Amino acid sequence: METLVVDHPLVAHKLTTLRDVRTDSPTFRRLADELVTLLAYEATRDVRVTDVTVETPVSSAKGVRLAKPQPLVVPILRAGLGMLDGMTRLLPTAEVGFLGMIRNESTLQAETYATRLPDDLSGRQCFVVDPMLATGGTLAAAVQFLFDRGAVDVTAICLLAAPEGLAYMDKVFANSGKPIRVVTASLDERLNENGYIVPGLGDAGDRLYGVV
Ligand code: URA
Repeated sequence: METLVVDHPLVAHKLTTLRDVRTDSPTFRRLADELVTLLAYEATRDVRVTDVTVETPVSSAKGVRLAKPQPLVVPILRAGLGMLDGMTRLLPTAEVGFLGMIRNESTLQAETYATRLPDDLSGRQCFVVDPMLATGGTLAAAVQFLFDRGAVDVTAICLLAAPEGLAYMDKVFANSGKPIRVVTASLDERLNENGYIVPGLGDAGDRLYGVV
């Protein structure tokens, strides 16, 4: 598995405000959206394209277009929804599938409660968006789900990652033989006893949408 921590002053600047406990939900949503677009720029570096030729007003020019099948963007509900617009702004022709997963707070295991994805993902490049890579349980389950349906490679875009989550992903997919990438704005210190990322930013879903 490949991990990319995006090292850019604008990413660091936006992330610092996201972490700040005084940042309200509207500002948090806007910053998360902006941050995703910056991360998505790096995350789509290997998106598949095909060569095309277009006619300019002057001459013909060689270029590229996104290859078919189009990439699939998969937000993990609920917090991943806060990253969807930022992602589709950069990939407007991508299709979007939904995966509802919740972490059981006693076992810290991921449980699937909703899926809305194509049955056949053969040949598809998938971009999973989930703000927090904490224990890695949710992301590993999501990635496995996509591979089981035929996805060729999966890139996860996470605002923050914990070392424990990355190590778990590494362990689970060590022999998968499929390309997996994690793109994040920060590799934080650790998880606390409640499975929260330290220093983190708290509960991403609550900060995006309020406590429900
Ligand atoms: N999920 C969150 O929203 N925050 C964390 O710190 C860990 C998991």
